[in-house]
Amino acid sequence: MKRNYIFIIFGLLILLAGPLFVVTQARAFSMVVHPVEITRGDPFFVVVTGAEDIPTAEFGNEWLPLTSCGEGCFISIAGAPIGTKAGKHPVKVSHGALSVSLAINILAGEFERQELTLPKDKVTLSPEDEARADKEAERLRANWAIISPRMWEDDFIMPLEGGISTDFGVVRIMNRIKESIHSGLDIRGAFGTPVYAANAGRVVIDDDLFFGGNSVVIDHGMGIYTVYMHLQESKVLEGKMVSKGEVIGLVGSTGRSTGPHLHYTVKIAASNISPIALSKLPLKEAFAFGQDKGVDEGEDKVAREETEQ
Ligand SMILES: [Zn+2]
Repeated sequence: MKRNYIFIIFGLLILLAGPLFVVTQARAFSMVVHPVEITRGDPFFVVVTGAEDIPTAEFGNEWLPLTSCGEGCFISIAGAPIGTKAGKHPVKVSHGALSVSLAINILAGEFERQELTLPKDKVTLSPEDEARADKEAERLRANWAIISPRMWEDDFIMPLEGGISTDFGVVRIMNRIKESIHSGLDIRGAFGTPVYAANAGRVVIDDDLFFGGNSVVIDHGMGIYTVYMHLQESKVLEGKMVSKGEVIGLVGSTGRSTGPHLHYTVKIAASNISPIALSKLPLKEAFAFGQDKGVDEGEDKVAREETEQ
């Protein structure tokens, strides 16, 4: 049987400590998406408040895992992969018979292109090296699909303060044949400089990899992982929990590296996401929505009607 109903959405814009949030309210729950305009490769969060139990959230056709952020509060950190088409993309939250949708505007952004000429053996690997690199890539990839319970808390921090030598998303064309997109951020640092865990989580890889050298991978839960490469040495053990800001290793130049630096990658739902943009996401404020609902129901309401069948 088809049920028709009408509900009102109050869309209101509020300024909270600078950043712009968009809040949409339906009868049963409120939804916040921030930021509402991002560049390809950037993360955003969705917070649902006033929901009796866990709603369903989607970004385009992708399901977003939600986790508790207080009573009746659910949060998800998601990202728009670099390959996302520029334009408006819907974030939809459904709870019971209600569903509410907000659009995120995704800008194409500009990603630098670098043409590199390297000795042939640096571009074409020996069959043995290629087999090893493939096996390691597969081992890394196997982690991204595992969605553990949330271990991250509030904001993500940068693991190392230093100049950026190669930005996230840079397109590198080697000897005019091989093209690769830089998966993370290269941060300069002197040999032996401490590298910090970007957030709390569990170490899922602590190993010497062909490309990454001494590498550490932390699972923060909810499909979010951080990867730290070229370390001189690691200071953690596989399977152990780490807290945010804990020293997990020292800057080095192990693996395929030409000088001391940290290669830092962020994975969300198996996609590479901008590490700097993640560190700027106001997650602490996102949790505040769960505490006091963060929604001023007073002024500046813009009402519009939506029908759903
Ligand atoms: Zn790098």
